[in-house]
Amino acid sequence: MSGPPLIVTIDGPSGSGKSTISRLLAHRLKATYLDTGAMYRAVGLAAQRQGLDLDDQEAVAGLLEALDLDLSPGEEDTRVLLNGEDVSLAIRTPEMGMMASRVSAIGVVRQRLTRLQRELAKNQPVVAEGRDTGTVVFPQAAHKFYLVATPEERARRRTAQLAEKGIAADYQDILGQIVERDRQDSTRPLAPLQPASEAVRIDSSVLSIDQVVDLMLTTINHP
Ligand code: C5P
Repeated sequence: MSGPPLIVTIDGPSGSGKSTISRLLAHRLKATYLDTGAMYRAVGLAAQRQGLDLDDQEAVAGLLEALDLDLSPGEEDTRVLLNGEDVSLAIRTPEMGMMASRVSAIGVVRQRLTRLQRELAKNQPVVAEGRDTGTVVFPQAAHKFYLVATPEERARRRTAQLAEKGIAADYQDILGQIVERDRQDSTRPLAPLQPASEAVRIDSSVLSIDQVVDLMLTTINHP
C-alpha cells in the first residue's frame, strides 16, 4: 500500500546539530534533505543586496515576486541557487543568519517559503529541518523531533563549523548572536520556534551525532 511520501521534521534552535543530523538521517532513510533555513538565508541575502527596507511591504513583495530559488542537497551543504547564482557559501555567514531571522518574521516571506517547502515534499520522502517544520509546514508529518543543546555547546559547534568553512568567527560573538537569534525566533508572533506537542525532544549536548541518528531511527522504527 503506498500513501503520501514520508515526512520527518527536525526543529530546534540554531547550532543544535539539526543540519548534520538531518542530512545523515535523510541518507539512512533514502529521503531528500530539506534545509528550510537555507531558504530564509537566501531571501535575507537577496534583501541585503538590494538594500531593502524590511518594513516596506511592497518592496518585500516585489523581491519575492522576482525570487528564483533552487535548492539541491549536496554532500556537505545544501547547494542554493539564487536567481541562477550559487550563493551556497555566501548565505552561511553569521550576518546572514541574523538577516534570515529578520526576514523570517515577515508574513509574506513565510507564506511563500512554506508553499515552496510543501511543494518539494509532495512527490518525494523528505527530512525537513528548521524552526516550524513540525508545527506549521508539515503538521501531518509522520515523525517529529525537536533538538536542543545548551547555548554554550551550540556556540562552540558553530564557531568550529565556520572555521572549517574558512569563515572567521569569535566564540563570544557567536554565543551572543545565538542567544539573540533564539530570542527573536521564539518570541515572534508568526511560526515561533517551539516544539510540536507530539515532537520527540532530544538533547544533543549529551549524545554523539551517531547516537542521535540511531535514536531517531529506532523511534521511526527503521531497521
Ligand atoms: O537554521 P538556520 O540557522 O539556517 O536558519 C536561519 C534563520 O532562518 C533562523 O534563525 C530563523 O529565523 C529562520 N528560519 C525560520 N523557519 C525555518 C527555518 C529557518 O524562521 N523553518
